[in-house]
Amino acid sequence: MSPAKSVILVTGGSGLVGKAIEWVIENDPKYGKREGEEWVFLTSKDANLVDPAATKAVFEKYRPTEIIHLAAKVGGLFGNMAANLDYFRDNLLINDNVLHNAKEFGVKKVVSCLSTCVFPDKTSYPIDETMVHLGPPHDSNYGYSHSKRMVDVMNRAYNDQYGCNFTSVIPTNVFGPHDNFHLVNSHVIPGLIHKCYLAQQNGTPFIMSGTGRPLRQFIYSRDLARLFVWSLREYKEITPLILSVPEEEEVSIKQVGDSIVNAMGYTGDYKFDTTKADGQYKKTASNKKLMSLNPDFKFTPFDVALNETVEWFNQNVDSIRK
Ligand code: NDP
Repeated sequence: MSPAKSVILVTGGSGLVGKAIEWVIENDPKYGKREGEEWVFLTSKDANLVDPAATKAVFEKYRPTEIIHLAAKVGGLFGNMAANLDYFRDNLLINDNVLHNAKEFGVKKVVSCLSTCVFPDKTSYPIDETMVHLGPPHDSNYGYSHSKRMVDVMNRAYNDQYGCNFTSVIPTNVFGPHDNFHLVNSHVIPGLIHKCYLAQQNGTPFIMSGTGRPLRQFIYSRDLARLFVWSLREYKEITPLILSVPEEEEVSIKQVGDSIVNAMGYTGDYKFDTTKADGQYKKTASNKKLMSLNPDFKFTPFDVALNETVEWFNQNVDSIRK
């Protein structure tokens, strides 16, 4: 067997997105592992990336040639509101440690992960890649959002000063196997799957908060994983790239609820508590740049992806994050 020519390090390898990349690397005929590649999936147990010495040690151990950088302190709305400083500092330190060592160790390419919360709170729609720095982000998680924006600033400066090929991508709402299914500190889809499961178990109604009218773009973690691998191999720019389903594939929260009820085979009482707030009506992002660069990419239909996620939830309900 010939030795690996490239060592691709995935930070945050145990999370929702990291696990999906691992799945794609092992299973996908087009985006899967290529000859000469060694993929390393890191967790916080391998290295606490907030710590400069631990980060340097893990680079010394694996000597990566390329990096997909996912690791981040990620939290729900209330966690962010209570600790904007912690989210700002931890993520700033993680990103600084990873990118600094990537430069020091001569890493050929880094694709870091931003989030649509980097975009200005007050903006026009659809949002596109040119708008990242055009106004303050939403107040609730400004610490996390600013730390993510700084990755784009660092990528530009590393390229200007040292010619580094460090870039970033911006996924919309992600869902899939290995998500965090906590009832409060989770994103909408995993939280609702768990709620519906409990309603089914306990014979109680499945109640959705709000009217169900808001629209969102959800990306299946395995599609996002394919796009991460494609970005590492093919995306040439330093500026960020939005990874999202098309604007026409926005789904309403009611459609999400209906699909969960179908996927779980839930037959009990299902209703909306319209006394609860809806949140922003829509946050549409444009995927025009992505589709101009990768026009043949096919997204998994929402219901197929949701069925796979619910199936995974049912099979792993005793051991999942919840
Ligand atoms: P998860 O919360 O599922 O996973 C986070 C990962 O980061 C875990 O592997 C965790 O390791 C690792 N990690 C956290 N803190 C540290 C640390 N101090 N040192 C080393 N590793 C650490 O996150 P997701 O997979 O959902 O998110 C991945 C990326 O995608 C993040 O950058 C996030 O901002 C971004 N993103 C996510 C979206 C979503 O909807 N989920 C939407 C847009 C962007 P361990 O398991 O050991 O704790």
